[in-house]
Amino acid sequence: MPENQKNILIVEDEPSLVFTLRDTLEAENYNVTVISDGAEVIDAIKETEPDLMILDLMLPNRDGYEICEEIRSLKYTFPVIMLTARDQEIDKVTGLNIGADDYITKPFGVKELLARITARLRRANAYSKSGPVEILKLGPVKIDMNEAKVYKPDDIIEDLSTREVEIIEHLLKNANMPISRDDLLEKVWRYEYSTNTRTVDVHISKLRAKVEVNPDDPRYLVTLHGVGYMLKIN
Ligand code: CA
Repeated sequence: MPENQKNILIVEDEPSLVFTLRDTLEAENYNVTVISDGAEVIDAIKETEPDLMILDLMLPNRDGYEICEEIRSLKYTFPVIMLTARDQEIDKVTGLNIGADDYITKPFGVKELLARITARLRRANAYSKSGPVEILKLGPVKIDMNEAKVYKPDDIIEDLSTREVEIIEHLLKNANMPISRDDLLEKVWRYEYSTNTRTVDVHISKLRAKVEVNPDDPRYLVTLHGVGYMLKIN
């Protein structure tokens, strides 16, 4: 196996979908392992050391939520893309909250899945342990971009989601400049299904609560009325 070949672990119990996924991913030169039983996931992770996992929500013996929660509690950091059936909007939110990095709704296009896999692997690579540790200081608040943690006064520590790290990265690249909601939607959400500018507002507000000492009077992650947002740094 070539040294740079990435391992992808697929946890899915639908044979036709497994066939398509394996075929597509192997054609893209990924090293693919498939399991269909939720109870076997942890053993398979230990054995294959995946770079990324594709996780179906509905599985025999254990569901995708439970699995995702366990792998995060075991401190595995590889990206997880969750597969959900149509009309499971509420489940997507739960999925992201318990540590999935992305989700895709069945039925989905193979190209879309491949694009997301590439994006997640690229990010994971940029933030791998061997990569540079990046600390962003916002006044008394320190953000460890590598660990995705915020260290605030009074020993308060907040965890950042992958999405929140991406938002900060994008704002940081354009620090002290106004960024529109549409720009964030395009660059951070890549116009995912069912997102709109309100999605951006909700995420910024949550992020602000994590990175500002006084979120009601933000000093760094500020709103520019009628324009969008700006990350103010010195
Ligand atoms: Ca299933």
